[in-house]
Amino acid sequence: MLHIHNTLTRVKEEFVPLIPGKVRMYVCGMTVYDLCHLGHARVFVVFDMVTRWLRASGYVVEYVRNITDVDDKIIKRAAENNETPAALTERFINEMHQDERALGVLPPNHEPRATAYVAQMLGLIGQLIDKGLAYPAPNGDVYYSVRGFPAYGRLSGKSLDELRAGERVEVDASKRDPLDFVLWKAAKPGEPAWESPWGSGRPGWHIECSAMSADLLGKHFDIHGGGQDLQFPHHENEIAQSEGAHGCTFVNYWMHNGFVRVDNEKMSKSLGNFFTIREVLQKYDAEVVRFFILRAHYRSPLHYSDAHLDDAKNALNRLYVALKGVAPTAEPLDWMHPAAQSFKAAMDDDFNTPEALAVLFELAGSANRGDNAAALLLRKLGGVLGLLQRDAADFLKSGATASGFSEAEIDAMIEARRHARIAKDFAESDRIRQVLLAAGVVLEDAAGGTIWRRA
Ligand SMILES: [Zn+2]
Repeated sequence: MLHIHNTLTRVKEEFVPLIPGKVRMYVCGMTVYDLCHLGHARVFVVFDMVTRWLRASGYVVEYVRNITDVDDKIIKRAAENNETPAALTERFINEMHQDERALGVLPPNHEPRATAYVAQMLGLIGQLIDKGLAYPAPNGDVYYSVRGFPAYGRLSGKSLDELRAGERVEVDASKRDPLDFVLWKAAKPGEPAWESPWGSGRPGWHIECSAMSADLLGKHFDIHGGGQDLQFPHHENEIAQSEGAHGCTFVNYWMHNGFVRVDNEKMSKSLGNFFTIREVLQKYDAEVVRFFILRAHYRSPLHYSDAHLDDAKNALNRLYVALKGVAPTAEPLDWMHPAAQSFKAAMDDDFNTPEALAVLFELAGSANRGDNAAALLLRKLGGVLGLLQRDAADFLKSGATASGFSEAEIDAMIEARRHARIAKDFAESDRIRQVLLAAGVVLEDAAGGTIWRRA
């Protein structure tokens, strides 16, 4: 039975979907004005893993991840580049899809764009005004009135007073309370604008998720996810909007993945310790990056460093070494196998991927001792996490640091070493191993013969 840690209640709860056999999940996606960074990679991979596990558990999953394509940063960047916001966002949506494909992230069922849902947002804002939960301000903006929603702060675990004192909230004369947030922004010259009952303008950020999730998943659905930084104010505001307008529970399970940290600081542009997915993929195979992300529990901080990536690469190599000669298979998985049961128990415990991966390493040990059934199960369980589906020899050779030897030369040296070993000339076989090692090529003697990888 799957248990999920619910940010709202702060405990692991048994997962019971609203409709038996079906899971409706919404995740806050990218604001598309630049290349995705490692923090985005984590959101993509974590909720891809969640979706894959729910599907492997037999659920039909309806997964929505939105695209924010109207926003201050987009407008500013487009103006700097002398292009339209639409051209800018189209470009970075394509770049994002390229990164996702590289990381083995399956496309969500729906990828709604904010600009296509302005009518639904206007409807929601109208409902909030009718209920006294929102007000048009003299400056032409429309604000949500947090004092009208007593549950405000429940997700963050803070009262309105604590939030006012603890968070950086801008003081703005047009707001009735400093925590009131904008639903509709009055048009400014040169900015994209839509007509509304409150004048020409554009939507605030928070309202898009309430409008798109209700339209695509309904007013009350199962799982809402996103990065930890979205808990406040974004998700707090989504709850206030959706529950305020619809008068029913919005979401049953709130899931948040932890930060990516670099040298124990949060990765951010302002700290200059910021890596795009593209930069990391120049140095590391995309599957290594996916494996690195899944090695940490999704709620823990993810510590990025070259040493950690190198370590992930070596660990993934070990799994591929055990897969030598075992082709990917579409055969169903035997969930009654004790290792599959341990894997399932780990995943059902709030998606505990580090423990699930530990099961894969045990299977690799058995596979290296000649247990072919273990190797096959390793392939299949890896596939559940979107890992270990490539040809082992190809993966191991793809380490991609030039060693000075061509593949044909390396194969010839391995063959020479094999003959030396048959002739019991261990000095010669050791010499060949050392020559290759000095050139960055590591030999692994497995049950099916010697295979090599670049160190
Ligand atoms: Zn959102």
